Amino acid sequence: MDSAMRNSKMHQLFLDQLKDMYWAENHIVEALPKMTKAATSESLKEAFEEHLEVSKNHVKRLDEVFKSLDEKSEGKVCPAIKGLVEEGEEIIEETEDDTMTRDAALIIAAQKIEHYEIASYGSLVTLAKRMKHTKAAELLGDTLGEEKETDETLTGIAESFVNEEAAQE
Ligand code: FE
Ligand code: FE
Repeated sequence: MDSAMRNSKMHQLFLDQLKDMYWAENHIVEALPKMTKAATSESLKEAFEEHLEVSKNHVKRLDEVFKSLDEKSEGKVCPAIKGLVEEGEEIIEETEDDTMTRDAALIIAAQKIEHYEIASYGSLVTLAKRMKHTKAAELLGDTLGEEKETDETLTGIAESFVNEEAAQE
């Protein structure tokens, strides 16, 4: 990358968005164990446990993206994810332990987080491609795919039994 490109506003925007997600992913890694603990059904616990490992890998992938750009990994507070995680914590306080209503609510909170990530990674892939950062685009695209998969898994859990059982509580 030449210095004109490195100093471009587009590159700064791209870096800023990467830092937002770096902070967000680290925050999600901290939040997921609490959500796992709070979940009632085994399926939701497992989905959260699995997404914890996946999210740890998203942090590593972002490290690789920064590296591919000759930039150092850095996070910048993401108020949106901070707020969405707070909503998840509120849900835990406001719902009863061992209920499917708790699980239904946790799935809603988690899907809001996934959708933020899907929007962010989708935009990052577009920016990376525009700037011909092939390696970065590939890495970010892999993460985007995994966020979409997680979103579908959560929908599947809600529709297969959680919502139905919650409706009977
Ligand atoms: Fe992620
Ligand atoms: Fe995620």
